[in-house]
Amino acid sequence: MILDPRRSVLLTDFDGTLAPIVDEPSAAVPLPGTTELLVGLADVFGRVAVVSGRPVSFLVDRLPGLVGSAVEVVGLYGLEMAGQDGEALPDPDVAPWRPVVRAAAERLAERCPAGVLVEEKGATVTVHWRAAQQEQSWVTEAVAAEASRTGLAVHPARLSLELRPPLVIDKGTVVYRRCTGMAGACYLGDDLGDLPAFDALARWAADEDGVAIRVAVDGDDSAPDVVAEADLVVAGPEAVLGLLDWLAATAG
Ligand SMILES: [Mg+2]
Repeated sequence: MILDPRRSVLLTDFDGTLAPIVDEPSAAVPLPGTTELLVGLADVFGRVAVVSGRPVSFLVDRLPGLVGSAVEVVGLYGLEMAGQDGEALPDPDVAPWRPVVRAAAERLAERCPAGVLVEEKGATVTVHWRAAQQEQSWVTEAVAAEASRTGLAVHPARLSLELRPPLVIDKGTVVYRRCTGMAGACYLGDDLGDLPAFDALARWAADEDGVAIRVAVDGDDSAPDVVAEADLVVAGPEAVLGLLDWLAATAG
């Protein structure tokens, strides 16, 4: 290895990266062996983290072996982190926005057409049209209306739109902070919410003369922009597992 793994950071998205994309978001599970690999990599790398748009409660439920391990679990694009016992530790700026998000989620759920899924995640709400693709324009208009009513910010994702508190917190800020002081950094992701992480990695590499590797996970409907900006493209979560396995064998 050219880089010292102990001075390198390994950061990964969850859905579409560690877990295959499924029609029903609540049914997503990581591939077998993922937890063990991540825990093993955390013995070798300076820092390992799962950075997801999912709530910490969901991530901890799907990756219970990470609780109490050296692998950091960051949820809701950095709006919350897992504590030592797997509890969600929200960013202090999030609290005033929770009732606003809940009210918006309730209004959207009341009015949404059949097939549209309103997924309330505590500090954010995602509206999916995967199962009702003809309803994309309804979702777009309804989410925009909620954004202007509440001050929440709209973020596009895979066949969905998300409303989040208008805070300067995203995967980019999460990633940049964790790269600071390191020599190398690798981030794996597949969706539009991963672009700020890719951008942050590039910015950090320029600022600190670090070595950054942006890995796009190219699945059936990955975001083309993520693939276009990547240094390396791998084919789906199976290939991610293979890459992590290779890293563990090579760097360990
Ligand atoms: Mg993803």
